[in-house]
Amino acid sequence: MEQKKYKIGIVGFGGMGNWHRETLETIEGISVAGIYDIDEERVRYAKECGVHSYQSLEELLQDPQIDLVLIATPNDLHKPIAIQAMQSGKHVVSEKPVTLSSADLQEMIDVAKKTKRLFTVHQNRRWDEDFLTIQKIYQEQRLGEVFRIESRVHGSRGIPGDWRQEKAHGGGMVLDWGVHLLDQILLMMGTVKLKKVYATVTNVTNQMVDDGFTAILRFETGLEVLVEVGTSNFISLPRWYILGQNGSAIIEDWDLRGRIVRASGKNEKDVVPVRTAAGLTKTMAPRREDTIFTEELPKVKSDIRDFYRNVIKVMDGTEEPKVRLPEVMRVMRLMEAVFESAKRHEVISFE
Ligand code: NAD
Repeated sequence: MEQKKYKIGIVGFGGMGNWHRETLETIEGISVAGIYDIDEERVRYAKECGVHSYQSLEELLQDPQIDLVLIATPNDLHKPIAIQAMQSGKHVVSEKPVTLSSADLQEMIDVAKKTKRLFTVHQNRRWDEDFLTIQKIYQEQRLGEVFRIESRVHGSRGIPGDWRQEKAHGGGMVLDWGVHLLDQILLMMGTVKLKKVYATVTNVTNQMVDDGFTAILRFETGLEVLVEVGTSNFISLPRWYILGQNGSAIIEDWDLRGRIVRASGKNEKDVVPVRTAAGLTKTMAPRREDTIFTEELPKVKSDIRDFYRNVIKVMDGTEEPKVRLPEVMRVMRLMEAVFESAKRHEVISFE
């Protein structure tokens, strides 16, 4: 049976809009009908790429051959464009963060329900292999009961010098990177309830929006998760660090360098104390080699194109969206709690 070919219109053809175009070119069953961008340079670039440009958002939305709209504009524009697109009969994929508040998101969800359109969010970092590796280690209990997870992304260039520095456009690192890292953690925890969050934000290079944050999440099982984004970190801490009762795992960087170290079960009698400059310690002495196993990280393969393959199947009516709106709402509420906690210097509790 021949697969139905869907057509997509891209609104906002900057860095990410173009990434979507390139990715879509490699996926069966969908093709780009054209783009709309307010910047003439981007329109010129689209022409160079052989991509049609619409003269206005309305023209794009009125094109009957378009089934689906991808929104890759600055964050504050996702909501009005998504609503207009759904009301024009189009399915919608929004870039992250879906919008700037849970109240705005609820309005978008209401329109999706009313118009019966697919409305989902490009939470592409669910397909990151570093995340999937940690999720596998956690789910398979390879370290015994996990009591702490640390997830970090660190850079040293501040916030990129565009709309991401401006509050009105939904700038700042909580909304930019936080939305990915918090989504990954909540997805990994599944039905385990989040009970509390405490967060601080940084304003090292930017006073208008946060240029980094640290959030400590406490789940009902007692598991603690630290999530951190830094943009003034000239030395980066590891991407992931996970501690279980029988071992630890680390992923250093985007290249997935890392390892698992587990207790071998061999009893460690007569620990030789380590001599530090001003004293002795047994507690902090390194492990003897025969009391631990050092293992490679499990290999996990993923393909980001599975995001759009799922979108196609949802439009066919044969699959449910992989990125579901209740999950998106949960992350939005958590980001609001991060801001609230940082503002009040208080722990925020969830019921
Ligand atoms: P960008 O600044 O490179 O591109 C934004 C584009 O939108 C620009 O070309 C701009 O001219 C255009 N634009 C602005 N107002 C418009 C309007 N009213 N109508 C049509 N076009 C308009 O930014 P970017 O890095 O491509 O980010 C775009 C979106 O993608 C943001 O929401 C961002 O958070 C998201 N993003 C996601 C990822 C990811 O991995 N999922 C990565 C980067 C960016």
